[in-house]
Amino acid sequence: MLQKGDRQNKSNATCIVIGGGISGLITATVLQRQGIEVTVLDKGRGIGGRLATRRIKYSESIVGVFDYGTQYFNVEQPEFQIWVDDWLQQGVIKKWCEGFGEADGKPRYCGVNGTRGIAKYLAQDLDVHVNTKVVKVSYDKHWLVETENKHYQADMLLMSVPVPQALELLDASLIVLPLEIRFSLESISYHRCITVLALLEKPSNIPAPGGITLEDDYLVWLADNYQKGISPHGYAVTLHATSSFSDDYWNSDDAEIAYKLLSAAADYLDSAVITYQIHRWRYSLPKTFYFEPCLALLELPLVFAGDGFVAPKIEGAVLSGMAAGKLISQRFGLKS
Ligand SMILES: Cc1cc2nc3c(=O)[nH]c(=O)nc-3n(C[C@H](O)[C@H](O)[C@H](O)COP(=O)(O)OP(=O)(O)OC[C@H]3O[C@@H](n4cnc5c(N)ncnc54)[C@H](O)[C@@H]3O)c2cc1C
Repeated sequence: MLQKGDRQNKSNATCIVIGGGISGLITATVLQRQGIEVTVLDKGRGIGGRLATRRIKYSESIVGVFDYGTQYFNVEQPEFQIWVDDWLQQGVIKKWCEGFGEADGKPRYCGVNGTRGIAKYLAQDLDVHVNTKVVKVSYDKHWLVETENKHYQADMLLMSVPVPQALELLDASLIVLPLEIRFSLESISYHRCITVLALLEKPSNIPAPGGITLEDDYLVWLADNYQKGISPHGYAVTLHATSSFSDDYWNSDDAEIAYKLLSAAADYLDSAVITYQIHRWRYSLPKTFYFEPCLALLELPLVFAGDGFVAPKIEGAVLSGMAAGKLISQRFGLKS
């Protein structure tokens, strides 16, 4: 296998990846190693999508660092382990623990400086454009990809955004999919998740190693980023609401959401909250899947990938991104 940064003979093939989450970055890495010229476009301020880490600076000495999307991951498949071994070797990730509550011997990994670090590491050798929202795509021998202020052109297009957002973009572009494929893609839906990022005055009461899954009406997960080791200068706690709370309170104002969720977590927080922020994830974990690693259209050089395809979470997104990379390479007549 080629290593990071290695390139094979440069081909003339070009590909645009819409979505700089983990799946799009993995595909882009695979393609770049094949010599394909690849450009990644992402609408976010930072790279990584749901690999999301944020700093909240309260004072010169108090700075909270929060993983507020992905919290940790484990490995089931050997293909994924190859990437994870590289991230471990490069000091991008570390083992957090072997389970929350009872240890089961399976490593749970997290980013050394937050999970967004994985995306930054993958992006460093790629042509990545953030703050770049794609608003329309069209195909006539080449793809023309329109963002709010620039056009890009390529032979192949990968959409690695949550499936409902891919369908919205295709609708805005007046691109009609074959009916059967449209129905299958429309059946992929995602849970919402409201997240509270709470900076505490003193250490939380969340048990070691700093994460707990709850069976609560309001809360499904609490993480202590200080214990996790990514927030040395602030007692930063991430609270994830249940899917039903997130649906019920999606349009409520931030103060009401914070009051309800912080009150529900009071025993675990065991501290005054200095400041907080709320983040609303419209697409957190998929409820349903496409049940293939990725989808390629025969009519257009268009491929779809992401965590809504074969399996949820980081591992599912990586496997989907790898499959898309292999398929696109093959379409260009390259061995993957
Ligand atoms: C709250 C929460 C908790 C989670 N916890 C875990 C966990 O503990 N463990 C785990 O393994 N997984 C977890 N996940 C799931 C994991 O984060 C996702 O499965 C994975 O990150 C999905 O990657 P992706 O590349 O498929 O999609 P995304 O990360 O969503 O990437 C899609 C990208 O597309 C971009 N985009 C969308 N539309 C456009 C457009 N028009 N133009 C340009 N760019 C666009 C977005 O900005 C985004 O960056 C969690 C997710 C959430 C939200």
